[in-house]
Amino acid sequence: MASEWLSELKAMVGREYGRVYAWDKVNAPMVRQWCEVMGIDNPLYTDEEYAKQTEFDGIVAPPAMLQAWCLEGLHQNNYPEGSTDENPYGALKLIEKQGYPAVVAVNSELSFDRYITMGEKLYYVTKLTEVGDEKTTALGTGFFVTLVMTFFSENTSAASDDEKIGELLFRVFKFKPHQQPEKNSAPAEVPVIKRPKPGISDDTRFFWEGCEAKELRIQHCKTCDELQHPPAPVCMHCQSFELDYQVVSGSGELYSFVVMHYPEVPPFDYPNPIGLIQLDEGVRVPAGLVGVDNKNDLKIGQRVQVEFQTFDEELTLPMFRIIDSNAQARG
Ligand code: ZN
Repeated sequence: MASEWLSELKAMVGREYGRVYAWDKVNAPMVRQWCEVMGIDNPLYTDEEYAKQTEFDGIVAPPAMLQAWCLEGLHQNNYPEGSTDENPYGALKLIEKQGYPAVVAVNSELSFDRYITMGEKLYYVTKLTEVGDEKTTALGTGFFVTLVMTFFSENTSAASDDEKIGELLFRVFKFKPHQQPEKNSAPAEVPVIKRPKPGISDDTRFFWEGCEAKELRIQHCKTCDELQHPPAPVCMHCQSFELDYQVVSGSGELYSFVVMHYPEVPPFDYPNPIGLIQLDEGVRVPAGLVGVDNKNDLKIGQRVQVEFQTFDEELTLPMFRIIDSNAQARG
């Protein structure tokens, strides 16, 4: 009966799940790496000398890093010894069994009680705080489920309790998606996905018009006689605005390359080799590579020659063909 599983679900509300421990004590190297990845340069987190002069008397961990301390790492469900093996998502499994397969994260609220300092050992416990009544939203019909993870700093002296340091509320919607409208019996037209087109400005137009004319045009400074690519409004060598272009030979060598395998984005063929070409005239041009039978044979220094290919009958691009199979060492 429907009401039976619902009361089982409601009875789970308020249940608290066991501790999940942090693999490492709060430490400076992880703080530094986190700041690096997040692009945060507050010296309170990374500069001990600076932090010593503040009210904190030493570096502290960024509050927003709270959840990072207790993550399992690369391997799923790989938690340190002493951590619970209870699954706090049992309510979601129960709902799923009743025919609500989809899930979407709805909101997440992180709150902090205080700064965390180096050497603290953290853990969290999870509580299922709320399961709403069945609701229908734009996505479908299902249940809002709220879990709260409460983070603590372990107190090693038995004299006092562990101290709560922050909280993460996490709400998901576990639902049955709306039925898709019946498909028309007529086969849908398959959209043709075209090659992305360049954004063309007054500074770059000569280059693309050159491609149409099957010429490789490289921007040239009339003041200092240097070439530059990609085209810019000003000479990067002498800041002159007196720019025109020269048609170059299109001969050069492979300065560097990548072979794209994944993700496969239409309309490109995969594996998709892309080269950075050092033109004999001295500038470098990134471009697709053609005539590559075996992607493993690509070598830095291979000679290449431009050829123009037109895609979707509207876009002509310079591509470079490998014209020798032997790499030549660059001088
Ligand atoms: Zn110049």
